[in-house]
Amino acid sequence: MTTITTETIQLRAGELGADCCGIASLERFNDAPAGFHPTAVLKSCKSVIILAARFPVSTLLSPSPAAYTFVRHRLVDKLDSLSFQLALELELLGFQALPIPSSDPYDCWDDSRSHGQGILSLKHAAVRAGLGQLGKNTLLINHQWGNMLWLGGILTDAKLAPSPLADYQACLPECRLCLTACPAKALDGTTIIQSKCRGTSSKSTPGGGFVYSCNICRKICPQHQGLKQSKHENNRLQG
Ligand code: SF4
Ligand code: SF4
Repeated sequence: MTTITTETIQLRAGELGADCCGIASLERFNDAPAGFHPTAVLKSCKSVIILAARFPVSTLLSPSPAAYTFVRHRLVDKLDSLSFQLALELELLGFQALPIPSSDPYDCWDDSRSHGQGILSLKHAAVRAGLGQLGKNTLLINHQWGNMLWLGGILTDAKLAPSPLADYQACLPECRLCLTACPAKALDGTTIIQSKCRGTSSKSTPGGGFVYSCNICRKICPQHQGLKQSKHENNRLQG
């Protein structure tokens, strides 16, 4: 049977335009909620490949929600194309490979809470693939790119060596900036109350368009351009 390595996958992901790529082994999903384990999506799954591409940070400088909306749409397209292409290439090598949508559609929707869940939580999978840790704003924080990453993924039956887990803390000690700044009071430090966020973070425009109108929890975070170490951490790193 054909074999493939984690390094080969990461190299190809980079060639296709990903800024980072990590692998999670199936064992890292042992605590996944019922129905959201990778094998519930692809029975033969042995590894989860997570791909990430970065936002242009300058997007956050514009007061216009159109700029942020445009970039978000392009990132969804980019990650979907990337995981689609990589899945095709893995199949040519003889593996099963299922691309995961980087945004919609939701597989599960709870109308009473306006709460949606995708086929797999990509940000939780990204933590398991070593790409970072979740901040109190519930966004992935990566040591190099901060919270400015969009995610895609592939489930495959290829047995791949898992990437090392991130060994840093996402949030600065005592920081609560995103919790206090959220205009919808949608953040509690561990989860996001989607029904509260939705009412603020998206809106229709007068011409019948649609924009993402809030990104405060991403923008206000001191970690949005990459990991800033606390003084304690800096001292430790400088020896
Ligand atoms: S996008 Fe806006 S409304 Fe939603 S959680 Fe972030 S700060 Fe709050
Ligand atoms: S703003 Fe502060 S509390 Fe919120 S995610 Fe960033 S570092 Fe964590």
